[in-house]
Amino acid sequence: MEFFDKLGKKASEAYKITADKTGKIAKETKIKFKMNDLKSQINDIYEEIGKNVYEKHVKKENISVNDFEEECTKIDVLSDEIEGLLKECLELKDKKQCPNCYKEIEKDAKFCPSCGEKQEEMKVQEVEILEDVETTEVEDDEHIEDQINIDQIDEDKSENLEKTIQIESNVKVDEEESKEDD
Ligand SMILES: [Zn+2]
Repeated sequence: MEFFDKLGKKASEAYKITADKTGKIAKETKIKFKMNDLKSQINDIYEEIGKNVYEKHVKKENISVNDFEEECTKIDVLSDEIEGLLKECLELKDKKQCPNCYKEIEKDAKFCPSCGEKQEEMKVQEVEILEDVETTEVEDDEHIEDQINIDQIDEDKSENLEKTIQIESNVKVDEEESKEDD
């Protein structure tokens, strides 16, 4: 009996790990797909800039960087988005990027195994936040955000309530004063 209990436990643990891995892989695939889409959008803009430069050359017009301000801003925005997704992707795999050689390395590495660059230690604040998440036993970030929003709304409500009470008490005083006048 004990043997089968152990077997069952092992099997469910193995399942848990696999499920977690597939979840992560699915997420990673989704992120990579989005990153590729953003990269192709950037390439389209590069093409547009190139075409515009050539047209200006044909028309013998002067070319200035300012002519492409809009396109460059678009690329900046897309690049930021890609960088954010890349961080998300590394986070998923418990990895980080070496700030010196940009190689993918272990999150807790003190030195980069590729270039030897000393790595900044994890911020204490981040660790504290993670601990908070564990103690509140909330399943995901979305729920936490919801909770915060509800808390804020409640605070707003109680503030309004206080104001209402204040106004009401003022009215009462006014009424009493007016009675005295009569
Ligand atoms: Zn490195």
